[in-house]
Amino acid sequence: MLLLPLPAGATLPRAASVPGGVALLPLGPATGTAAPPRAWFGEQPVLVARRDGEWVAVVGLALDTPPGRHELLVQPPPAVVAASPAGEGAAAASTRVAFNVGAKEYPAQRITLKDSSKVDLSAADLARAETEIAEIRRLQRHWRAADDTDLEFIVPAEGRMTGRFGLRRYFNGAARSPHAGFDIAAARGSPVRANAHGIVLASGDYFFNGRTVFVDHGNGLLSVYCHLDRVDVQAGDAVVKGQRLGLVGMSGRATGPHLHWGVVLNGALVDPQLFLAARGNRR
Ligand SMILES: [Zn+2]
Repeated sequence: MLLLPLPAGATLPRAASVPGGVALLPLGPATGTAAPPRAWFGEQPVLVARRDGEWVAVVGLALDTPPGRHELLVQPPPAVVAASPAGEGAAAASTRVAFNVGAKEYPAQRITLKDSSKVDLSAADLARAETEIAEIRRLQRHWRAADDTDLEFIVPAEGRMTGRFGLRRYFNGAARSPHAGFDIAAARGSPVRANAHGIVLASGDYFFNGRTVFVDHGNGLLSVYCHLDRVDVQAGDAVVKGQRLGLVGMSGRATGPHLHWGVVLNGALVDPQLFLAARGNRR
């Protein structure tokens, strides 16, 4: 795995060391053209960015991350290891960086679906949904080293924000998995745009998510666009920020036309709003 340094001017997401948030962990000075340290959270490699002359691990925290103490495994770049007086190997030089994840209580949302077949699944639909969920999880763990990951997103559709990230959802009164994305209600057929540049990793038509596009921004950062009416890109396409990926729709499990936008960081679905430009978020 080759990890390249990001540009010096990387704008980082807002730090929120809570389930569904992003922890920013300083990893030491970034000097000259030196390669960044490498970092892992559990099994997943972690994005490392350069900010104000230091390396910062940008760690995605899944909604089911238990609050409390966690550790990042950090390995210095090969050049630093070779120059160390002890001449130790890379494996011996690994360190652990401890950090704390706070608790966060997200609000509840109650949704009524007239089509109960999307709530109480038949055996065939359940089997299909489970297969798709496994495939989606595999896509979310995708890693591609890149030296130009853009961490400052634009909103991918114009419309009314109707569902915040993290909502604890009840469908027809029954508790379901929390809302791991950001919903924007918009007219069917309005454009869905790439929130940052990247490469289309996959597209598919899923039971819950409907017509869906995955864009890989590099270094474990991905965006997922769901419930589309039409998809205009295919796997392997390079897309620029603002490029149309498809049209807003209500395919899959949706109560009306909207874009469900998910953001994945080191395999974890995190709050997309942390990546949107806001006052005080610029370096
Ligand atoms: Zn949604």
